[in-house]
Formats: sequence, C-alpha cells, structure tokens
Amino acid sequence: MEHRRAPETAVDSVPVSSLPIRPGLEGETPYGAPELDVPARLNVNENPYAPSPAVIADIADAVARAASSLNRYPDRDFPALREALADYLAVESGVRLDPRQIWAANGSNEVMLHLLEAFGGPGRSCLSFTPTYSMYPEYARDTLTDYVTGPRRADFTLDAAAVAAAIERVRPAVVLLASPNNPTGTVLPLDDVRAVLEIARGGGPLIRNGGSAGPSDAVVVVDEAYGEFRRPGVPSALELLIEDGGGRYPHLVVSRTMSKAFGMAGLRLGYLAASRELVDLLRVVRLPYHLSATTQAAALAALGHREELMSQVASLRSERDALVAWLRERGLTAYDSDSNFVLFGPFQDRGAIFEALLERGVLIRVVGPAGYLRVCVGTPDEMDAFRAALVDVLASRPDRPDGEEKEEST
Ligand code: PMP
Repeated sequence: MEHRRAPETAVDSVPVSSLPIRPGLEGETPYGAPELDVPARLNVNENPYAPSPAVIADIADAVARAASSLNRYPDRDFPALREALADYLAVESGVRLDPRQIWAANGSNEVMLHLLEAFGGPGRSCLSFTPTYSMYPEYARDTLTDYVTGPRRADFTLDAAAVAAAIERVRPAVVLLASPNNPTGTVLPLDDVRAVLEIARGGGPLIRNGGSAGPSDAVVVVDEAYGEFRRPGVPSALELLIEDGGGRYPHLVVSRTMSKAFGMAGLRLGYLAASRELVDLLRVVRLPYHLSATTQAAALAALGHREELMSQVASLRSERDALVAWLRERGLTAYDSDSNFVLFGPFQDRGAIFEALLERGVLIRVVGPAGYLRVCVGTPDEMDAFRAALVDVLASRPDRPDGEEKEEST
C-alpha cells in the first residue's frame, strides 16, 4: 500500500546551520506523530466521529458573524467562553465554578505552556512521573525549566511515598500528573491527588514574601485531557476545587480539552480550572489576544451542541473495554484504560508490528514502555480493521527479537 506523507513530516531533523539556535535546542526535532493518509488512523487519540451537518452549520454561522468584526482584536479575556466552559463542567462533572476560575488557550498544550511560563523558568523545576505524556519535557524545555521525572509503579499508579520524596528533593514549581495518563490510560484516585496536594503545600521553590524567603506551594496540575472517558464512578479532580466550600487547594489546576471526547481537535481549544488567584497569574503571561475571535465563536457554538458532540463517548468507552478483553484473549497484556486508547504488548520487536499494521492500512503509535504499543479507539469499522490486521500480523509474522527498540514522540 502507498502512504502519502504530509510535506511537513518529510523533514524530520533540523539541518545544521549558522543561525544562532538557542543552546539546548541544537539537534532537536519538531514534535509530532506521522500524519499518514491511511484507512484507520488510530495514532493521536482523536474522536473518530466528525461533526454532524447541523453542528457544522452552526459553527459556520458563528464564524461568519465573528468575521464581520475581524478588523477588531478579539476579547482578551473571553468572558462568554469562560462562562460556557464553566457551564459545561458543571454538567459534565457536577462541579460549579466561577467563570473567573476558568482559563483557555489554543489547545491544552498552550494552557500548560502558560502554566510553565508563569511558574517555571531558569532555576525552577517541573516534576512528572513516567511513563507519561511526551510533551511535558517540551513545555519545560521551551520555558527553560528543568524537567525531572520519578517512576510510577509497575501498574502505572503513583506511589505517594515516592512522590513525597521526589517533591522534597526537587522542590518543583509545577507537578504534572496526567489522569487518565497518556500512554497508559491509568487514572489517579482522588485520595492520591489529595495526598500530592498536601505534600506540595510548602513543597515548592523558595520565594520572597515581603522581607524574608519562604517555601511556596508547588502547583499541582492534573491533566484531564481524557477525563470524559473515565469509567462511571471515577471522580474528576475538579471536585477538589469545591471541597470544603472551595479554596482548600489554591495550588491545584485541572486541565481539560475540547480535542478528545468533545471531538474538536481541529478547533484547538484547551482550558483549565483553578483558583481565581492562579488564573489571574496566567493572564500576565498570555500573549495579548491569543484566542482568536473565530476560535472563540466556533468554541461557543460547539459547546451549544454538547450533547450531540459527546453522544459517542459511551460507545467509545464500551469499544475500549471490549478491545482490552479481546487483546487479553489473544494472550497479550492490555492495561485497563479510563481514556480512549489502550496500551498493549509486549512485543520483542514492536517497531516491526507497527510497520506490519501500517502495511495493512492501520496506523497506531510506538510509545510508552519498551515492547508496548498504543492504539486509539476508533469507529466499530476501524476497530474491526485493527483486529483483523493484528490477527493477520501475528499469524504471518512471528514477533522476532531482532528489531531495534526506538520510541517516537507522542
Ligand atoms: N494532555 C495529554 C495527556 C494529551 O495526550 C494531549 C494530546 N495528545 C494533550 C494534553 C494536548 O491536547 P490538546 O493540545 O489538543 O488540547
């Protein structure tokens, strides 16, 4: 099968030049998974369902209205969108927040960059626990923040004692915890998040307060990019923002996105919920007018169709659970997942399995612990294609141990 390679992915390393590249960026390559035009694209954890004609029409109308005043800059603080996002969270998680506790940017990637710009920087550290989302080191690199990692347990959960030891040693400004975690799908129990928040209190870098220097509270970010896919009964860390009437954890951030369950990856709209004090600090570092008028209009229109856009979440969850069971029946390890992807393996040569699936028109991801692969949950037809291809690959190509272990960025 022929695969068309998107032009921008054809260049996979930056050529050596006489330009004054910043120290630390030499030899770095642009982030990104391959963008290949194949029948089953199951590699970047998107929602496989495109918006309906009614949603498309509404978004188009909203963008047309916004276009009539594109000679003006957009609203810098986008109160209408923050209010709509607060309303969405109230329905989705039962947590009612003040719209001033919400912040948004172009994807949760940018939201997290704002966090690192506000709290990281030279002499500061950001702490995370691996395996986890591979953009975290890039946010740190781009803000000149040290990126320090600690391990997760063998089942990818967090060990509170190890987290406490790491916080004490590193005194991080920011702790990044993905829940559900990418690429493992592991969710963090709220008690664990509470424990980390307590350890982080006074566990941050020393800051000057008035005349004397004292410890700050490390900012704990719970990245819930896949939060809507969590299994019934699993709470969101948003609940901690209102625990005891709110205000108990001014150093907690819960990050969300419209890219995954909401099916709007192309829109680029990520957001977070936190204390008002913390959100106000983010307003200092954002570029003026970072969220375009058309993005704000399209996001508002899409949020008006919440029920329809989210209607496939339940079926994606059951496809996911069926996939885990199916992989286990084949004698493979597949981790329980609260997201829209499954980590499975092990393979002695996972690169060869990836390539053989690609030859059969199924694109997944080489990521995570050695020997493992990640597949995103697609439509029933795409999952049939994945299962048929994997059965074929495993039957026709013994998993030989001669492959070179290499991991792509996610
Ligand atoms: N966090 C995690 C854990 C992710 O996997 C992703 C996307 N792969 C993001 C954040 C960023 O998503 P977006 O910028 O599209 O909101």
